[in-house]
Amino acid sequence: LVFGTHSLHHFPELMYNALLDGKRVFERGNDDNQLYEGFPVKRDGTFKGWLPIMYGCNNFCTYCVVPYVRGRERSREKNIIVSEAKNMIESGYKDITLLGQNVNSYGKGLENEITFAQLLKQVEQIEGLKRIRFMTSHPKDLSDDLIEAMRDCDKVCRHLHLPLQSGSDKILKAMNRRHTAGEYIETVGKLKEANPELGFSSDFIVGFPGETDEDFAATLDMVDRVGYIQAYSFKYSRRAGTPAAVYPGQVPEKIKAERLNVLQEKLFSRQLNFNKECIGKIMPVLFESKGKKKGQLFGRTPYMQNLHAEAPAESLNRILPVRVTGATVNSLSGTVIQQQN
Ligand code: SF4
Repeated sequence: LVFGTHSLHHFPELMYNALLDGKRVFERGNDDNQLYEGFPVKRDGTFKGWLPIMYGCNNFCTYCVVPYVRGRERSREKNIIVSEAKNMIESGYKDITLLGQNVNSYGKGLENEITFAQLLKQVEQIEGLKRIRFMTSHPKDLSDDLIEAMRDCDKVCRHLHLPLQSGSDKILKAMNRRHTAGEYIETVGKLKEANPELGFSSDFIVGFPGETDEDFAATLDMVDRVGYIQAYSFKYSRRAGTPAAVYPGQVPEKIKAERLNVLQEKLFSRQLNFNKECIGKIMPVLFESKGKKKGQLFGRTPYMQNLHAEAPAESLNRILPVRVTGATVNSLSGTVIQQQN
């Protein structure tokens, strides 16, 4: 039984047909762009969970298939989101990530229009919820209201994933990202001013068609200017049906690989520096599972850093202050200094 996510509401019928006829079923029907609610949800995590607030995307970045396969942007009603978040808290969750392809344009087209900043303030009110995260934020839609809301909402983690993709204006334009490197820096400046503790992460694509050494150097320059604490980076790869797949100036694999190495070296060294700067600090850690070694638990800091510390099993699903004692590029180690919930 094969079907697209837009046909999820047809699942019982498709399953029935598959069982009745004993044949394989392929459902490729068109997306009616409607949002269907009320599906049963089974979550994998226990303490840290994902909560979709919208589906689809209207942005049509020239390398991306999402708008074609997931359809146009559709926001879920605020009340449904808040009630789902409350259910998650009742089941033990403490850390919720609000999910969407571009959460910054949440609420457009809803009968009762609401902005993402307003939604954040509502979610902040939920009793028992300790941490709020969200992704992904498109830089072009990050409003001053959201900057204020992030500053004022204590539960919102001081960690923002703000994909830049490239530091070159020429490549950003070819990607149809609809902002420049300068505008991105301006937004980062406002965010840092409102909230000096904020740590930034990003996504990068190297070797986009037409990318020259100069364009790539502009990306490296942005890494230094923003000072990312973490990032995902990839070589550009063609996606059939997207405009960039047929752009002239496709970059040879060898050059892409070289650029990716250079970029990752820089990003990992920044990440390691940031982790090392945490040594000696006391950070609130939500312990979410057993650690690799006996007697250890694994948890996350507000910056999403992995942390291992010796702690009793009762510390699971609690946020405890931990003094950081060690750091590698991918994780921290520390000592729980006192117990509180
Ligand atoms: Fe939308 Fe993100 Fe894809 Fe751009 S990269 S089209 S914003 S999902």
